[in-house]
Amino acid sequence: MNKSKEKRIKKFKKKRIWPSVLGLILILCIFIVVMAAALWASGMDIVQRKLLDSSRKSIKVAELFADYNSETEEKIIQTVLSHIDALEEIEKVAVIDADRVPVWSSTGEYPIIDATIDIELLSEITEKEIHVMIAEDKEQVFIIEEGEIVPNEDALEDIFSASEFDASAPFAQIKLWLVIPVNGLDVMVLNDIPIYFQDFLTMIVCILLCIFLIVIFLIYYLISIIGTVFGVRKTIKIIYTDMVTGGDNWLLFIRKGASLLKKNGKRKQKYAMVHLEMRKYRSFCTCFGVNKGQELIESFYAALKKEMKRNEVLAHQENAEFGLLLVYAEAAELEARIDSLEKALNAVLPGMKMYFGVGVYLVQPGERDVEQLYNNAMIACEMLGEEAENKIAFFDVEMNNQKIWERKVEDDMDRALVNREFQVYLQPKISTSDEVLGGAEALVRWIHPTEGFIPPNRFIPIFEKNGFILKLDDYMLEEIARIQAGWLAEGRKLVPISVNVSRAHFTREDLAEHICAIVDKYQVPHSVIELELTESAFFDDKKVLLNTVQKLRNAGFSVSMDDFGAGYSSLNSLKELQIDVLKIDADFFRGADAEERGLLIVSEVIELAKKLNMKIVAEGIESREQVDFLTEQECDLIQGYFYAKPMPVAEFAQKYNV
Ligand code: C2E
Ligand code: CA
Ligand code: CA
Repeated sequence: MNKSKEKRIKKFKKKRIWPSVLGLILILCIFIVVMAAALWASGMDIVQRKLLDSSRKSIKVAELFADYNSETEEKIIQTVLSHIDALEEIEKVAVIDADRVPVWSSTGEYPIIDATIDIELLSEITEKEIHVMIAEDKEQVFIIEEGEIVPNEDALEDIFSASEFDASAPFAQIKLWLVIPVNGLDVMVLNDIPIYFQDFLTMIVCILLCIFLIVIFLIYYLISIIGTVFGVRKTIKIIYTDMVTGGDNWLLFIRKGASLLKKNGKRKQKYAMVHLEMRKYRSFCTCFGVNKGQELIESFYAALKKEMKRNEVLAHQENAEFGLLLVYAEAAELEARIDSLEKALNAVLPGMKMYFGVGVYLVQPGERDVEQLYNNAMIACEMLGEEAENKIAFFDVEMNNQKIWERKVEDDMDRALVNREFQVYLQPKISTSDEVLGGAEALVRWIHPTEGFIPPNRFIPIFEKNGFILKLDDYMLEEIARIQAGWLAEGRKLVPISVNVSRAHFTREDLAEHICAIVDKYQVPHSVIELELTESAFFDDKKVLLNTVQKLRNAGFSVSMDDFGAGYSSLNSLKELQIDVLKIDADFFRGADAEERGLLIVSEVIELAKKLNMKIVAEGIESREQVDFLTEQECDLIQGYFYAKPMPVAEFAQKYNV
């Protein structure tokens, strides 16, 4: 993965939640700013209106001083005082001259004039305009510009900090001295301006409405965020859930595995990566249906899950394959544990024996790439082959090299066929009666442009696995037909040459026709071509095998059974299959089998084959004693290093004068 997938999931998590959260924060900020601005503007407006109103009253008081010089002081005072009564907001009146020296006060008190008042501004005053207002307590200064009052911030703070609202009593009181220049004097009028709760009623209702709306909006938004969070969680859960087992899936296995291995950095525990697969799962599905197959996997998962310890991970991979990251102390103990896991799996369907292939990779310190480790475990398992048996294979470096080699072979094989890199080698079969050439076997060699000479055991098994063997065998058959046709045209004496027909061919019902078509292109008699098949072909479609052999023999080809006695040998197959030649496997002449018992079997097999009218070829014969023994037993032909190794066609033609 998966790193890019992992990244995408992480991005998905963030992507789905953060925009909502950010959106919410942004909307809240905008709301707060708008509210504050609206509050500020409407508050300012209310206060401003109040102040202007009271200023107008103060100006009236100040105007009484217009005739200050012509009227007597007492008269003025009387007038002022009478007006003060009428103007409820005016508390005190004081007069100072242009140098700010107090002239008169209605109460005998004078305001403390703050130094911040611009004296020049006062002295410049010629008309009846209010230029400066001074708050009594705090000596705050309000400057009036072009009829607008610009309150200073601190003063406003005072106003709004009054928090006890009472409908009848003002919740704030602003005391302001208004300095009004009149006839060369500054008349100062102290205003006591009450601010009532009602003044802000509309504003408060608006604010409450807004708060209500925002709360509704917030609740809605929060619900949608919670919904998104749950949605994301659900989606993530789905992403990490295996559709068949309902448990952890492969992505999560990789994630958890990597984090476990990372945490285990100091090597507290030893880990083994295990690939476990049920053998013949496809056959199970064919017999019982895919649904039953999936139920089986689900039960397997549950059974394995029960066996998992802390700090171990399990996930279903595909088909009937599972990945396990297990903690272990010793390899032997690990094998025993895997055995017990297999037992637990077998208990899922009592009465039915199921087989499992297990590949194990022992994780080395510092290794964390879960996919790579699992790949190693899979390679180990692949090396076990397809047999229906419980087997465990531990990964080793050689397996990896083998895998790399397989990759190379697969990359190069098509090109090799086109470039004729596959070459025919011939190994003679010598008759025991007169020690002359009685036949030959065609064996392939790969002359690779960079790897050089490659023997068949390094690529045939790979081709058998990937199906390329079908093309190669056709190629070899065609080559032999072509060579034989060439020799025939040259008037040489022909001996039968056998070609190997891999087991994989026996899936096609028209195999005999296919072989005839290839050979007939070269117009050679079928009798000079022998087809070697192995007994293992019996294990596939027996009907196809029997039919094909029959058709080939009817067409004049001779058919031989290769490697008789190796592996699956059964005399039974001789009963059903009518063939022309029996090739006794080289193993009879090797190791322990070369002893008396082995030779006894060989002589019995030869006798039996004779009775069945078969020719006998002994393979892998390396010594004179073996030749003598086989001659004595009336074996027909001998193929082995004793006479010659497989050799290039030209060398063969020269040496045996065909
Ligand atoms: P095979 O068909 O059993 O071929 C006989 C193998 O035994 C050959 O190995 C041959 O070189 C070897 N041999 C012969 N005499 C002796 C001996 O005295 N001592 C020893 N130690 N070995 C001897 P080779 O050529 O390496 O082929 C190995 C196998 O590869 C063949 O076994 C056959 O199964 C497969 N093979 C080779 N060519 C082809 C082909 O064109 N098509 C298919 N399907 N398989 C092929
Ligand atoms: Ca052979
Ligand atoms: Ca053989």
